[in-house]
Amino acid sequence: MNCSKCKNPIGENATVCGWCGEVLYTKNVVYNTKLEVKTSFNPLNYLFLFCSPVVEINGEKHRSSWGTQTFNLPEGEYNITIYIPYLSWKRCGENSITVNVVAGKTTKISFRAPHTVFSKGSIKVL
Ligand SMILES: [Zn+2]
Repeated sequence: MNCSKCKNPIGENATVCGWCGEVLYTKNVVYNTKLEVKTSFNPLNYLFLFCSPVVEINGEKHRSSWGTQTFNLPEGEYNITIYIPYLSWKRCGENSITVNVVAGKTTKISFRAPHTVFSKGSIKVL
């Protein structure tokens, strides 16, 4: 493959270009390095069915859905914030966690919506 910046040839598993120093993530590394986010709620709070949780990864919003979602990420430390826009509560159940995403592995976290809109959801690394 070639460096995305200087276009010089580089090794398949290179993470830094030897020509220009550009930090690269090879397809292979990105593909195998994942963050799996599992979101759920108590079925008694069935109104949550009508909204979707939002997963923020280092402040970048990803509209999500209940269940399991997988994000391909380069390895590193990430701040994950999850909440549910619910009626007039824009960030219902908001809670955050810092996770270390390890190269070549799937890091898993779970988020359980709170029982009341005034509480935090429970978020943890599995
Ligand atoms: Zn380069």
